Amino acid sequence: MGFDFQSENNNINNDLDYNYKQVLAENLDCPVENLASIVGPIEFVHIINKYTPDNFYTGDFLSEHFDELYQNVLNKTFRINLHMHTVESDGRLTVEELLNQAVIYADNVKSKINDDLPAFMISITNHDSLEGTKKALKIIAENPDKFKDIKFVTGIEFSVTLDNEKILKKPLATDLMGYCINPYDEDLNNFQQNIKNSRNEEAQKILLKLSEFGVKENWETVKNSHVLIKIAGSMAFFDFIKHYIYKNYKKSPNLIKHKEEIEKLFEGKQTTFSSTVKEVASIINKSFGYIGLAHPGRIHLSKIDESKVFPTKNRDFKLEGLYLLLKDSVFQGATLAESNYHYTMRHYSEELHKLVDVTNLFCEEANLLKTGGTDGHRANIFTHTLDLSDEELNLFLRS
Ligand SMILES: [Zn+2]
Repeated sequence: MGFDFQSENNNINNDLDYNYKQVLAENLDCPVENLASIVGPIEFVHIINKYTPDNFYTGDFLSEHFDELYQNVLNKTFRINLHMHTVESDGRLTVEELLNQAVIYADNVKSKINDDLPAFMISITNHDSLEGTKKALKIIAENPDKFKDIKFVTGIEFSVTLDNEKILKKPLATDLMGYCINPYDEDLNNFQQNIKNSRNEEAQKILLKLSEFGVKENWETVKNSHVLIKIAGSMAFFDFIKHYIYKNYKKSPNLIKHKEEIEKLFEGKQTTFSSTVKEVASIINKSFGYIGLAHPGRIHLSKIDESKVFPTKNRDFKLEGLYLLLKDSVFQGATLAESNYHYTMRHYSEELHKLVDVTNLFCEEANLLKTGGTDGHRANIFTHTLDLSDEELNLFLRS
């Protein structure tokens, strides 16, 4: 790989982090000193390599027992969450609420630990949206003292397409994590806007076709029916539109009569209207930042081509397929993989632990940064899609 993560050359390191913060400070119109909580690209690598898997997990993520599921929160070993959504995409927390929870939790971690790692490090990673990250930067820059015990990493979750025909039967849609990015970068913002525009245009073309089949629906209404349609984000954009149509017209004779043609309208649209890892890398690498595959254990391995991918080293063709997809992501410019992702029982399969092991093995081999988080979508910083009662939340924040 072109970049030496283990480099200890402090002058160069400090310069890069300083330059990064200077760029952010210019956009925020604040002194660079106000951004002490913001993690620079070099600091990111140093911290990530020091945290252990325990620091990434709230507990045994597949356990059904509360105490096991959250054991690392209760004993304050849980110290980093780099995957959370806010109301700017499909999360439930506002940026303010998320930051406030992180500050309270960090304060309690700090009273119980004795090491030189940040008490709590977080990122906001909305689907195809930089808005949550921008809001967090502004809030932190305006009140740096309040956030002195947390570290904040700028973030985003890109929806991308993987389309290597030597591995896959057909392109598949998945997610890509991005960190230490410059959310004000013009190229990055234009790149995002172009994808959104093309998705919106295609969605309107689909609605036009649907009206020919007697299914008449207004784009504004469809758009406002789900936040991910509204922001033209996530790998489920076209699925959500289809879902909306099917839900509202399930009894319509026109829908039943033209089901096959309607299915075709949506087929392959998500992968067609998403960028490749390489395209995202080319934008990110021009400024700052790291990218890599999100939740590798959730990639749709049913698309692996069994006639081209062969079992090797105790790996069946699917495990080998994942290994090759990770490898391909690195060829395209990825420098991390989300190896410490909080899978839930919803993602459970017989193979899940093997998929996690393959991811870890590949991260070691390719010297990738190992990131992770809860993929939080609810009103707390500790779970993926589980709600917490007020009592539970207070227990986690303050115990
Ligand atoms: Zn996510």
